[in-house]
Amino acid sequence: MPRQLTTNDYLEGVQARDRAVLGRAITLVESNRVDDRQWAQELLTELLPFTGGARRIGITGVPGVGKSTFIENFGLRLVERGHRVAVLAVDPSSSVSKGSILGDKTRMERLGASDDAFIRPSPTGGSLGGVARKTRESILVCEAAGYDVVLVETVGVGQSETTVAEMVDFFLLLKLAGAGDELQGIKRGILELADLISINKADGDNLEAARRAQAEFQRALEILRPAGEGGWTPRVVTSSGHTGEGLDEIWEIICEHHEQLSANGELERRRRDQLLGWMWSLVDEGLRSAVREHPQVADTVGSLEKDVLEGRTTPTAAAEKILDAFGT
Ligand code: GDP
Repeated sequence: MPRQLTTNDYLEGVQARDRAVLGRAITLVESNRVDDRQWAQELLTELLPFTGGARRIGITGVPGVGKSTFIENFGLRLVERGHRVAVLAVDPSSSVSKGSILGDKTRMERLGASDDAFIRPSPTGGSLGGVARKTRESILVCEAAGYDVVLVETVGVGQSETTVAEMVDFFLLLKLAGAGDELQGIKRGILELADLISINKADGDNLEAARRAQAEFQRALEILRPAGEGGWTPRVVTSSGHTGEGLDEIWEIICEHHEQLSANGELERRRRDQLLGWMWSLVDEGLRSAVREHPQVADTVGSLEKDVLEGRTTPTAAAEKILDAFGT
């Protein structure tokens, strides 16, 4: 076992951009042990002044859409341009099924081999809220370690896309061109989250279908988000992780978005809202488990649930009783 690190070792190692220490700092942040969590909070508090400097970019798409190929080639291009790129993932499925959709270590090998890239699979264990907390804090650690681009990958499982959208500045949705009627089966909510949609695998025989899908999505977005929130009008482009087509354009769009939202104060507002939203979601989560674990509540909850189910009391009256029991 490597020797135990001190807070100072973590601080110095992270800021010296030592990837091994960075990895261990993230392991500390991901730990569920009570003493580790306290330690992690101390470390994060020390690192806080050095955070906030990255473009935080969420990337989503169904399994097989080409996310890892895209991220690898996109990341390599950014590294060539002098950026330092961290790739994190939010994959709540790995907690439930024990098998992950994302985060397989063999993915993105070329990017992982670069000195200027850092790839971390999704934390496992716990609820989506738990996974999200860890990823949010890992973003901070990566920023303190000088990564100026943080890509947060996710897959459309449950609420994971919304959760990732709430921790990034820019949200990219990768789609495939299908056989017409592109919008069928797409979750409406995700169109509202996306700052950019890219029809991926736009190469070879797919190219024409990708262009058609692009036009169709563009029309749908114009109807769904006519004004463009925060002054930003979402767009639709095509890309190919294989040929590299569209990757430079996507980065330019991300930069344009960043400039526009920085200039009008929207980026700052968004990040502040995210911080407070994050804080309150932790309070909500903590309260919820405190209520459920409260001994007085535990004594009455079974019979109250039964009363509700059997029509003897209303959910409202039962909820009041539970909260009263919590207050005692
Ligand atoms: P993920 O599950 O979304 O991470 O998708 P992968 O990146 O693992 O890609 C899934 C499959 O699609 C693999 O067989 C890739 O080789 C292929 N693929 C990925 N990107 C492209 C692309 O841009 N064009 C084409 N034609 N195939 C691609």
